[in-house]
Amino acid sequence: MSFLRSAIAASLLASSAFAAHAQDQVLNLYSARHYQTDEALYANFTKATGIRIQRVDADDAGILNRLKTEGAASPADVILLVDAARLAQAERDGLFRPFRSAELEQRIPAQYRATPSAEGSAWWGFSTRARVIVYNKASLKREDVDRYEKLADPKLKGKVCTRSGSHPYNLSLFGALHEHLGAAGLESWLKGVVANMARGPKGGDTDQIRAVASGECQVALSNSYYLARLMLSAKPDDQALVEKVGVVLPNQDSYGTHMNIAGGAMARHTKNAAAAQKFLEYLASDAAQGYFANGNNEWPVVSSVRMNNRALDSMGNFKRESIPVAAVAGHIGKVQQMLDRVEYK
Ligand code: FE
Repeated sequence: MSFLRSAIAASLLASSAFAAHAQDQVLNLYSARHYQTDEALYANFTKATGIRIQRVDADDAGILNRLKTEGAASPADVILLVDAARLAQAERDGLFRPFRSAELEQRIPAQYRATPSAEGSAWWGFSTRARVIVYNKASLKREDVDRYEKLADPKLKGKVCTRSGSHPYNLSLFGALHEHLGAAGLESWLKGVVANMARGPKGGDTDQIRAVASGECQVALSNSYYLARLMLSAKPDDQALVEKVGVVLPNQDSYGTHMNIAGGAMARHTKNAAAAQKFLEYLASDAAQGYFANGNNEWPVVSSVRMNNRALDSMGNFKRESIPVAAVAGHIGKVQQMLDRVEYK
């Protein structure tokens, strides 16, 4: 009897100690994502595990600087960044801790995660975005701009606008084109694009869409989610703008449209490796994938996860590039030297 009583007491003690421990457990997340649906994404994880998410929000460059400054004293457990170019740079800077996960390896296509070392992958993609071509429907036809290669065609002289060539979104696209066209092919393409510019590179992707709609230029590049955001906007100005532009998922008759990712990684100096891994695995779950992708109008990496997003649906089913985003990121050093040579600002 007394044995039983003390056994019950011990187990009560153990379970309340566990509950208190779980309540206290905090995961420090450094995130370059700031979307409304993220709140639900984190709340569901806390509900399922008892682990609280403490978030540090900054832009990608701010997060990377902070991690470098903090060094081994960094409280960061998990890091969320956008674009493979940035994830690969952070990997080279030694800011991530690679790990193996049967679950992540099974759910995330190899194309969308870091090339694994013996320790595993350093980063993992959780959503995908396409780099699309946007054109002014009044002055160009779809066939004029249905391949990235055509942006360098002399027929488009004075019609092209882009953001800075050295922005990660363009660096990644150019890294992909290095795979498809070879070094010499890419350099002559870049030269052609610079020769076709309506104005010097400036602004973000949304500014390029606006410039195309206003007629300042006739064709530009943009990530798919900036267009989706405008398509879903209730503002009459945005609707009028969307009416004026055509969207092309380029290179359907060849290697497919350039795809990139938003992804995550375990911080090099985490003191919470098990919880960090649990959180990253959670992000690939069916429930989390919908929130993660839809928060920024992206496609889930887990192909069996279905979403309801009329802007993405309007872009239809399309052929995606199949090269690994890690291979693309590997070309970026060479691409930067080419941009200097061709004076692509
Ligand atoms: Fe963006």
